Amino acid sequence: MRDNLSFRDSVDRMVDRALALLEVEDGMAQAIKACNTVLTVTFPVRIRGRIEVFTGWRATHSIHRLPSKGGIRYATTVNQDEVEALAALMTYKCAIVNVPFGGSKGGLYIDPAKYSREEMEIITRRFARELIRKGFLSPATNVPAPDMGTGQREMAWILDTYKHLYPEDINYAACVTGKPVNHGGIQGRVEATGRGVQYALREFFRHPEEVAKTGLEGGLEGKRVVVQGLGNVGYHAARLLAAEDGVRIVAVIERDGAVIDPAGLDIPALRQHLSERGGVKGFPGARYEPDGAAVLEMDCDILIPAALEGVIHAGNAARIRAPLIAEAANGPVTAEADVILRERGITMLPDAFVNAGGVIVSYFEWIRNLSHIRFGRMERRFDELRGRHIVDAIERMTEAPFPDHLRSELVYGATELDLVNSGLDDSMRQGFQEILEVSREFDTDYRTAAFVVAIRKVMRSYLDMGVY
Ligand code: NAD
Repeated sequence: MRDNLSFRDSVDRMVDRALALLEVEDGMAQAIKACNTVLTVTFPVRIRGRIEVFTGWRATHSIHRLPSKGGIRYATTVNQDEVEALAALMTYKCAIVNVPFGGSKGGLYIDPAKYSREEMEIITRRFARELIRKGFLSPATNVPAPDMGTGQREMAWILDTYKHLYPEDINYAACVTGKPVNHGGIQGRVEATGRGVQYALREFFRHPEEVAKTGLEGGLEGKRVVVQGLGNVGYHAARLLAAEDGVRIVAVIERDGAVIDPAGLDIPALRQHLSERGGVKGFPGARYEPDGAAVLEMDCDILIPAALEGVIHAGNAARIRAPLIAEAANGPVTAEADVILRERGITMLPDAFVNAGGVIVSYFEWIRNLSHIRFGRMERRFDELRGRHIVDAIERMTEAPFPDHLRSELVYGATELDLVNSGLDDSMRQGFQEILEVSREFDTDYRTAAFVVAIRKVMRSYLDMGVY
């Protein structure tokens, strides 16, 4: 981070604005902002005949609701400050979108590219054992999920490690979310964060008076979008927005630079190219720009940073040209940049709302694991039968055949994926509407409003429990 503040301080600085608006007394403000506990573990693993020592963290920011929830990140940028900042964001995120969890986050200092699959499994299982034994991983108290550098594979190893230690825990599958579907995962979790970004933008564009403040017009169709990071979040957000909303992804920024195509990039083909070549360079039909950071400043309608924190900072905020930023990554805009961008009238849809899709669907997955049944399993065929009865009854009464396209819509029982996406859509819409209402109540920006929404709920919970 190029600014003077650490990531943790940057988050706190932005939360302070909301605390001041609500006139929260100092003690309560400290209670809300403080990280409840932080665990540091160092553990040795024998790799290729040599002993290597790894360091990992798990921060629990809040326990006003249990379990505390948050991803595990594998990267060489991971440190305690970052994990604490991300855990704090999880507290606010869950409160904003009405997910009844506390906030947590974990990280392991590692470059996953340096290790084989077998080595990653040994390291992950060892890390999971440390977290479990120290009381930082269980279905009831602390439930990890994927984040940067981790995915379904790591979650499956963590689940299996927990299951072996606690086979008598009937809810063992709920100890982690983002698992493969055949190991208790849920349909739609892989793309949930990206889909949530899409739903957040759709909801924003349902409010023309808000869209007008950015200087943009109309809906998402045809909007020029720049995406940074074509990983789990960025890929699915870009793919879905292009395929289902008709946006043009005019540039994608990755580690090795950016590719630009004003006509719109083919996102699945680019992802394929990225996974085969390890970079975006050489993608057919697109202009390659080695200075990826400069492409953040490109003229476009919507900028979606979906890679890492601190990429829009005091040094480049004055040059950002997008009138709308949808923060798909955690903390992509620093507190200092936030001030500059607000002064310039740039609208920011904040991270704690925009990327909440992952934790929303994780919540559904956790519920599915506790109920030990797939959503929709009992009612799907019943709903289809009832639809058929309705169609038959209408046809008999009107003596006219039902149009085929309407018949297939009525005679349809929702799949688990339909229900997951419906719940995700509803949560994102409601989240934005709560933020919008507060932004009008206090005449403030969306980020501050989002933190006000969160702080009110967290504070209410502390007061109800009689902490003060
Ligand atoms: P990921 O590891 O799947 O993808 C990150 C991508 O960013 C990779 O393609 C990587 O090559 C790229 N990248 C890394 N450094 C870059 C750089 N300097 N410039 C451009 N690209 C770079 O991670 P992810 O899960 O997609 O997470 C991305 C962000 O979204 C993180 O901030 C994470 O905390 C946040 N997030 C993730 C989830 C989730 O469900 N995975 C949920 C909420 C928030």
